[in-house]
Amino acid sequence: MPTLLARASGRAIPFMLALGLAAGGASAQNAYPSRAISLVVPFAAGGPTDVVARSLGAAMSKTLGQSIVVENRTGAGGTLASAHVARAAPDGYTLLIHHNGMATAPALYRKLPFNPLTDFAYAGQVADVPMTLLGRKDLPPGDMASFIKYARDNGNKINLANAGLGAVSQLCGMLLQESLGAQFTTVPYAGTAPALTALLGGQVDVLCDQTTQTIPHIKSGRVKLYGVTTLARIHALPDTPTLQEGGLQGFEVKVWHGVYAPKGTPPEAIEKINGALRAALKDPAFTQKMAELGAEIVPDARQTPAGLQSWLQAEVDKWGPIIRKAGVYAD
Ligand code: ASP
Repeated sequence: MPTLLARASGRAIPFMLALGLAAGGASAQNAYPSRAISLVVPFAAGGPTDVVARSLGAAMSKTLGQSIVVENRTGAGGTLASAHVARAAPDGYTLLIHHNGMATAPALYRKLPFNPLTDFAYAGQVADVPMTLLGRKDLPPGDMASFIKYARDNGNKINLANAGLGAVSQLCGMLLQESLGAQFTTVPYAGTAPALTALLGGQVDVLCDQTTQTIPHIKSGRVKLYGVTTLARIHALPDTPTLQEGGLQGFEVKVWHGVYAPKGTPPEAIEKINGALRAALKDPAFTQKMAELGAEIVPDARQTPAGLQSWLQAEVDKWGPIIRKAGVYAD
């Protein structure tokens, strides 16, 4: 009897094992997500990327049935966070939200420890956010025309804050200096939250940053607003001229956001993440919050994994030559 059982199970085990594994694998995927998901934010808590991430995470968790925990990993203009996610386990439990910095990093960083175009799985894009050019409350110029004159006359006496090399505020500042033909003194921070605190405290003179963070301070009069960085005026600040209207021909910077996972993340998990992302972009609580902050939900075609991937490729191709021509690099 024992021999028979042993022989029977000896033959049965490989088959049962294979069946069991297949069933376990399928149910593991069906069960995704079975625990909390980490959403890595490359900039400081309380900043624009963080605000979009927290609102998005709350909306996506309604569909996914698990909490999405925001993890701020700051440093090196967002590249530390991206490298962390590129190397994380590809199981759908570590995601990254990033902006234009994902596309500018290959040109800005000589030793980039990841490749934005090959080391990730793409979940989709979220929202576009305009930027605003701000001065500290007591900076002398009162409007864009006098700011342009003041900037050209005072050059490197002006301290320009940004959220690090690779932040969009850095990109905006770089374009601003180029369009003005002026050279400011740049002061980098770990995100917009500390950069804005420095502007509010009068430690720096100028900051170009997202409306998601700047609108409340503009409305309360704690900063001077010179212009918006989009080609057209924005709904949230209808009376504010664009930098182009103010005289900086063709000036345009808009922040776009994408959600990424490590390369190799199961397609079933990506599909669920994308489904939750698209549901979030229709969630009234999320859309209302974005509208209040001046952000615009991206069109349907950009909400898909393919939409993010092709957009990223186009942005890498667009910014590479501009950055290389400007000669701005980090090691
Ligand atoms: N607004 C920042 C940037 O310029 C990043 C942030 O703090 O969210 O890229």
